Amino acid sequence: MNRADGLARLAAERFDVLIVGGGATGLGAAVDAAARGFRTGLIEAEDFASATSSRSTKLIHGGVRYLQQGDIGLVREALHERTTLLRNAPHLVRDRAFVVPAYRWFELPYYGAGLAAYDLLAGWGNAFGRSRIVGPRAAQALIPGLRGAGLHGAIVYHDGQFDDARLAVTLARTAVDRGAAVANYVRATSFVYDGARIAGVRAREREGEAEFTIGARVVVNATGIFVDELRRLDAPQAPALLAQSRGSHIVVRAAALGDAQAGLLVPRTPDGRVLFALPWHEHVLIGTTDIAVAGPELDPQPTGAEIAYLLETVNRYLARPLGESEILAAWAGLRPLVNRRATRTAALSREHLIDVAPSGLVTIAGGKWTTYRKMAADVVDAALRVGELPPTPPATEHLPLHGARDVGALDERLRVYGTDAEAVLALERDDPSLAAPLDPRLPYTGAQVVYGARNEMAQTVDDVLARRTRALFLDAAGARASAPAVAALLAAELGRDAAWQRDQLAAFDALALRPPAPAAP
Ligand SMILES: Cc1cc2nc3c(=O)[nH]c(=O)nc-3n(C[C@H](O)[C@H](O)[C@H](O)COP(=O)(O)OP(=O)(O)OC[C@H]3O[C@@H](n4cnc5c(N)ncnc54)[C@H](O)[C@@H]3O)c2cc1C
Repeated sequence: MNRADGLARLAAERFDVLIVGGGATGLGAAVDAAARGFRTGLIEAEDFASATSSRSTKLIHGGVRYLQQGDIGLVREALHERTTLLRNAPHLVRDRAFVVPAYRWFELPYYGAGLAAYDLLAGWGNAFGRSRIVGPRAAQALIPGLRGAGLHGAIVYHDGQFDDARLAVTLARTAVDRGAAVANYVRATSFVYDGARIAGVRAREREGEAEFTIGARVVVNATGIFVDELRRLDAPQAPALLAQSRGSHIVVRAAALGDAQAGLLVPRTPDGRVLFALPWHEHVLIGTTDIAVAGPELDPQPTGAEIAYLLETVNRYLARPLGESEILAAWAGLRPLVNRRATRTAALSREHLIDVAPSGLVTIAGGKWTTYRKMAADVVDAALRVGELPPTPPATEHLPLHGARDVGALDERLRVYGTDAEAVLALERDDPSLAAPLDPRLPYTGAQVVYGARNEMAQTVDDVLARRTRALFLDAAGARASAPAVAALLAAELGRDAAWQRDQLAAFDALALRPPAPAAP
């Protein structure tokens, strides 16, 4: 996947479908449109998945919470997508066992029945493990760090887990494999019209600031929490379709759960939510919160009160409570929540909606990572109607994503590359200086930086350390210590000078030094 090629094509070609926004939704739509055979372009203002799509809880799930709310249709659809994604991207999605501990007797039959229903909704062909009730000893064998005192037993159920930013870059590559023109760091700044109809966008490459026109039969607005901002470039008075809520996470060492292979689900927190503590890339991720916020922002931060809440809630279930000093990384994302009262046009599902403006701008908003493929099919159907393009059925249900393979023997660091792992290993064999970890706290090597620059459009130190690898999400101090080596390798790959490296390091330090906020509210 070559960025210069993508840019050249975006400036030169006219597209059937042009997608603005390179998160889960936009990238999924690009794969869908390209797989149906349409001339497809996609631009992302920053890096792929740099907004909400790299900051999820990393679950491909039906949603135990939606089940509690009785949203059966939604759960069934998401569980179907869970199996589809495991089949199409086995290198990025895995079956993960979760333990729901019961410290009161009635919880075993109560949650056991709920999770049996979850299994039933997954239906025939479910590729994930079945739920079962286990005794306290078996529960602690799955999570050695689980508090034993008062534990009656547990329900063990299964769900999907994934690497969100890696899935995003994989979707970008799949779209390119299918003929789409794709580039990051290209922002849509305004629309171009043919009469009253949108006929493309004006776009600007962040670095060069040169504006150019990208022509298209139909433009899809898939800018996530920013959809209303883009809609208002077309219709300044358009009412807001979205509200946002912040969800925060903390990351600690795997030892917090006693090196568990299973995740912990707290089914009911004091404020009536669910909370997860789950193994992820040899660490433990704990989340999340739900705090209404005033508007979209690119890099939301967890507050001290949220961090205190996460620690306090998970500590009720741990044999050895976690301290604030054990937090290695903390990060937050903003949920795109559909504002039902403001919706004018067709609401296609309770989770996402599609809005068609009088100008023909097709906006998709809401949803979740798990259902990105279904959302993509819905929005491309709408785009074909608006663009008067030939009706063509979706073609992604059985489309393996880029690199898809059975990852059997690959370790955690390499499995996300799938079939491309061999190319990373070849770089390490050819130049042993690229084979050593960039920092002893993390497994990532220089070869991954070089591979990211050459094949995955990595443009900045942050692209490499936050999303091509997940260093910044796992261990902020380890990521910061890796940054100088990453800047030097990227500069050599991208032809940048010493001043660029200094700027990159200053910018990355600002990100990595953000304190895991103190526990005081
Ligand atoms: C805390 C949290 C936890 C979550 N956990 C889960 C989970 O476990 N499982 C699950 O299935 N879902 C989860 N979700 C939901 C899921 O992450 C989101 O639904 C999904 O990532 C939204 O993707 P998106 O593409 O719509 O938006 P984004 O990822 O925000 O992408 C929009 C993109 O548009 C770009 N953009 C904006 N303006 C422009 C412009 N003018 N020109 C070009 N590009 C532009 C932005 O830079 C951005 O990259 C979670 C969400 C949050 C917040």
